[in-house]
Amino acid sequence: MKIKDIYKNKKAVFSFEIFPPNENFSSEKLYEVINELSTQNPDFISVTYGAGGTTRGGTIEIASYIKNKLNIETVTHLTCVGSRKSEIESFLDELESNNIENILALRGDIPKDKDENVYHEGDFLYASDLVKEIRATNRFSVGGAFYPEVHRENNDLIDLFNLKKKVDSGVDFLVSQIFFDNESFLDFRDKAEKVGINTPLAAGIIPVTNAKQIKRITSLCNCKIPKKLEKILNAYEDNSEAMYQAGIAYATEQIIELLSSGVKGIHIYTMNKTHAVNEILKNINSIRKYYE
Ligand code: FAD
Repeated sequence: MKIKDIYKNKKAVFSFEIFPPNENFSSEKLYEVINELSTQNPDFISVTYGAGGTTRGGTIEIASYIKNKLNIETVTHLTCVGSRKSEIESFLDELESNNIENILALRGDIPKDKDENVYHEGDFLYASDLVKEIRATNRFSVGGAFYPEVHRENNDLIDLFNLKKKVDSGVDFLVSQIFFDNESFLDFRDKAEKVGINTPLAAGIIPVTNAKQIKRITSLCNCKIPKKLEKILNAYEDNSEAMYQAGIAYATEQIIELLSSGVKGIHIYTMNKTHAVNEILKNINSIRKYYE
């Protein structure tokens, strides 16, 4: 099923993100994670794509397992930085032959072994170029990324207008960067509506289960730490069990506030871990039923 149709049929959509196997995360372990996540009946599971296509085969294999063996809808991420049209076309053909109908179209960042010239080595400059390319084939539902606290390369207003261009290129659904401050997300939603972005917006949530992890996330994602979360971090950073529990409670509250504010999608960045996800979903069990 196409993600745009899932959004049409449900009051709110619940999804997970996972990453494909790598040298620190075996495929056996990943299949266990996916099997466990599947018991939570997500509306879809998305599978990330390594910068510069490094996980291409793994991304398709895992997405195919989710779709064809578990009968759960899937979205494969796809980045276009440095890619040629022919490479993208063959990726799309492979997705189609694996019965995969949804793509999160991304520009991507500079791969580790490259420099800024990479942006001009391929046939696509921005995610919107990739969106157009995919839409022209008429085969997939296409999603895009957005940044409620602004993409680090641009200021507020320009980023919003660039997002509008991306949506107008044919995006059916948007998934946000991780954030901890609901006000930022809800303000962004208001601004987006004002410039005519009416595509469903999913909120990217990550349970902060240890204090070290949050420093890495905030530096990678350019996101604020609200006072409430700062207090939690200061109080429990040296007590891993307390921090874990408080992190789950924080993510739970974040989700409840977003849903009750009319947010249409909750996308949990699982980091290939199940326990915190299970705890959060247990906390919102009845609330989730309300949105079916
Ligand atoms: P774009 O939408 O192209 O935007 C990039 C920058 O260019 C922005 O600053 C934007 O304002 C600007 N811009 C856009 N259009 C124009 C224009 N027409 N003219 C001038 N400026 C313009 N990375 C991976 O490598 N693999 C993944 O699987 C992956 N998954 C992600 C999932 C989500 C939900 C998110 C939020 C990010 C993900 N990323 C992933 C990271 C992403 O690739 C980076 O954040 C990247 O820097 C931007 O990608 P984008 O698709 O948002 O780019």
